[in-house]
Amino acid sequence: RTTAPPELTVTGVTVRFAGLTALDAVSFTVAPGTVHALIGPNGAGKSTCFNVLSGLCRPASGAVRLGGAELTRLAPHRIAALGVARTFQNIVTTRGTVADNLMLGRHALSRAGFAASALRLPRARREQRAHLDRAREIARLVGLEAHFDSPVGLLSYGDRKRVEFARALCLEPRVLLLDEPVAGMNAAERAATARVVDTVRAELGLSVVLVEHDMGLVMRIADEVTVLDFGRAVAHGTPDEVRRDPEVLRAYLGT
Ligand code: ADP
Ligand code: MG
Repeated sequence: RTTAPPELTVTGVTVRFAGLTALDAVSFTVAPGTVHALIGPNGAGKSTCFNVLSGLCRPASGAVRLGGAELTRLAPHRIAALGVARTFQNIVTTRGTVADNLMLGRHALSRAGFAASALRLPRARREQRAHLDRAREIARLVGLEAHFDSPVGLLSYGDRKRVEFARALCLEPRVLLLDEPVAGMNAAERAATARVVDTVRAELGLSVVLVEHDMGLVMRIADEVTVLDFGRAVAHGTPDEVRRDPEVLRAYLGT
């Protein structure tokens, strides 16, 4: 990639659930090519924010923009097609090989489509080979190359989380939303995932929005942090700045 990803802006986004304000006029900007962490106590609104960014939740007001494109209220597949891909905290794949799972991601991009490839038309077969090559390259980027043809069910938990990561990358996103990518991992797997985030940012030149409870990881890989508390963005800054912010200490430690 030669061009930087577009800027992602969230402006005054408000989400209400039957009397509860899950997000209250939240605004933040993800600068091109940076890692932006969303942190905050349980129930602060982090997952709701990801759901708005990926089109699973429609805000009552506010806007989400990617470069010149307005994403607010688009259907999830349209948002994905505009370059925003996400992983889920709890969905971990158990069926098929790593290659099968990554090719599912590639099929979403395929112009020839399933029907043409089932008929083995020459153009579809060429396209299929190109997708397989790209899927293998992405597996290499996330450190799964040795497992490319292995059944996902035989992989370690950390490797299966990495399959989710790689599948999102197979959509060729400009912005990758990672929901607690190291939850449940051991120290070695956490360190490996942090290196993978660094690698994909450097090699694919994408922006990353990260929801993560592991503060060590956030401090190490985030360029900027937005702190949510009771649906409000109470602090923005570098990891060092937010770590010292009295509002942040209050949100985490109670008044
Ligand atoms: P976080 O991810 O920061 O822990 P969430 O975004 O999941 O927080 O939740 C924010 C608030 O919104 C919580 O009080 C939660 O109970 C509530 N909430 C989230 N999703 C729904 C929903 N679909 N219906 C009703 N309330 C919800
Ligand atoms: Mg959550």
